[in-house]
Amino acid sequence: MGASVSPDGPLTEPAVVIAGGGPTGLMLAGELALAGVDAVIVERRVSQEIDGSRAGGLHSRTIEVLDQRGIAERFLSAGQVMQVQGYAYIPLDISDFPTRHNYGLALWQSQFEPILASWVVELDVPILRGREVTGFAQDDGGVEVELSDGPSLRAAYLVGCDGGRSVVRRAAGIDFPGWDPSISFMIAQVEMAEEPEIGVRREGGGIGPVNREQGGGPYGVVLKEQHLDHTSEPTLQDLREALVAAYGTDYGAHSPTWISRFTDATRQAASYRAGRVLVAGDAAHVHSPHGGQGLNTGVQDAMNLGWKLAQVVHGISPDSLLDTYHAERHPVGARVLQNTMAQVALTTPDDRHDALRSTVAELLAMDEPRKRIAAMLSGLDIHYNLGEGHPLLGRRMPDLDLQTVDGPARVFTLLHDARPVLLNLDEPGGFDISPWADRVRLVEARHDGVWELPVLGEVVAPAAVLIRPDGYVAWAGDLAAPELPQALMTWFGAATHSH
Ligand SMILES: Cc1cc2nc3c(=O)[nH]c(=O)nc-3n(C[C@H](O)[C@H](O)[C@H](O)COP(=O)(O)OP(=O)(O)OC[C@H]3O[C@@H](n4cnc5c(N)ncnc54)[C@H](O)[C@@H]3O)c2cc1C
Repeated sequence: MGASVSPDGPLTEPAVVIAGGGPTGLMLAGELALAGVDAVIVERRVSQEIDGSRAGGLHSRTIEVLDQRGIAERFLSAGQVMQVQGYAYIPLDISDFPTRHNYGLALWQSQFEPILASWVVELDVPILRGREVTGFAQDDGGVEVELSDGPSLRAAYLVGCDGGRSVVRRAAGIDFPGWDPSISFMIAQVEMAEEPEIGVRREGGGIGPVNREQGGGPYGVVLKEQHLDHTSEPTLQDLREALVAAYGTDYGAHSPTWISRFTDATRQAASYRAGRVLVAGDAAHVHSPHGGQGLNTGVQDAMNLGWKLAQVVHGISPDSLLDTYHAERHPVGARVLQNTMAQVALTTPDDRHDALRSTVAELLAMDEPRKRIAAMLSGLDIHYNLGEGHPLLGRRMPDLDLQTVDGPARVFTLLHDARPVLLNLDEPGGFDISPWADRVRLVEARHDGVWELPVLGEVVAPAAVLIRPDGYVAWAGDLAAPELPQALMTWFGAATHSH
């Protein structure tokens, strides 16, 4: 861990403190490092290991954003590419979607995190492990971040990527409105003296061997709980009692590797920003695991925030650019909350909900409904409201094959260094980029072929597109359009004439 800082060692004042080095905090750290911002992660855990099984995979758009940084292959080679999507357990196939990654990736969070962490270490972001953020005080000039152990850290910004029970969110006084849990599940990995009944239960959950090929113990157990109110983590005794309630026996359960619980508590931060403090990932939104969207949404929150925060830290953009983080990502999070609540309702174990679910399954067998819902779950339909204009505006830039003067290139390859790109597909030389050339790269290219977007289908090819570092289109049109300098200024700062 070359980049870890000794807890006692000196640390110069970082521009950004990231509370929490889970999927969201790690992705944000990588984005900030690529943009040349000094950041430090403060992480409670002493290693990247996680207790328990959490996210089971990546959706298409997350694979795409990792591809935009040139690191998708690291994850793809560690997991299994497959059609992972399901809406209320109704499988959805996206193999006909217009993306290079027309699938998901089965990859446990316990495998995902170390791969992402090693990228962050390569980028030299220090990780202060075994330390907690306990609070902060912000003033006009910065944030004083209090740590559990040792002196506080002063930074220009603090980002809470510290999970659903976020200390940062609470200390910032950000409301977390939503819905209390309606269902609670105990989840464990445990040995059993007797052979248990394998399979899914109608009320949800069930028992299965951890190693599906070999069978036998240890077993993964998910059990619906009788009560919703819990003040402490479940114990082996609780697990045994829940097994007896469900199966009439505890199968001699013993030697748990871990025992945990999850619920469908559904809440979202009322604001993703409070001055110099921001929240992202589970710190900003919690919901049921239906559809496997939590980790994916967090990683993409980080991708949205990283380049904006970097520009504000570097003085390229006013701090109002940070308000676009809330404006763009809050609606995405709200949609995830909504679709997970719908899935919880649809999977309620009774005959009437079963009937409703099979009606929905019939609808989802039709092309258009399938595409809509699958594009939502995969994150491919995200549309930031950047106003009227070309259909690409505010949508993900497709990974087109291009011909450039330097030879063939993919759009996503042009984004590897996390810098904005003005891609001109028309006659070269129609625009003087020099007032922005220190920030925005002009690429002259050709693309032979149609432009096809998920759900929308084919769209008219634009003459040029301005692509943000997160891969979303900030502007599309003709290079001579007066809106182009405006868009460059809005997103990437004022023109400079020092060249
Ligand atoms: C059973 C289950 C199944 C799931 N399945 C999926 C799935 O299939 N797909 C999916 O996308 N998501 C899934 N999720 C959700 C996913 O696990 C989370 O959304 C994801 O981990 C969020 O990442 P995060 O970095 O925002 O938060 P976390 O992963 O919670 O990371 C927060 C980090 O902050 C650290 N921390 C906390 N407080 C402090 C502090 N005060 N100071 C310093 N460090 C701190 C923690 O140690 C942790 O490392 C599932 C979750 C559960 C419980």
